[in-house]
Amino acid sequence: MKYCSNCGKELKEGADVCLNCGKAIKKIPSTTANNTKNAKSKVTAGILAIFFGAYGVHNFYLGYTGKAVAQLILTIIGFITFILIIGIFLVLASSIWAFVEAILLFTGSIKVDGYGNNLGD
Ligand SMILES: [Zn+2]
Repeated sequence: MKYCSNCGKELKEGADVCLNCGKAIKKIPSTTANNTKNAKSKVTAGILAIFFGAYGVHNFYLGYTGKAVAQLILTIIGFITFILIIGIFLVLASSIWAFVEAILLFTGSIKVDGYGNNLGD
């Protein structure tokens, strides 16, 4: 059962206005519903970021291709130069970057994908 946000009275199923106070009832536009249905999952993206984040997998998934390529290159250069000490720091930097983004995804701080579409759960 739904209740009027204005007066708190019960609303009839499918009603467009409150019968008690006449306030129009907000309906979710179908376009928004479709976007939510096709939305990329921030949980999936967060899990990808934790396990494969250093390779930019979560950013490829979300459509942040530029960031994804940057992380992937950082990690590849890191592996190539691993024998020199610098590579360790490059891989570490890429891993920490991805881990921070995983936290931002899980906490809802990253709200949209690379195309500006809202993320789902
Ligand atoms: Zn009302």
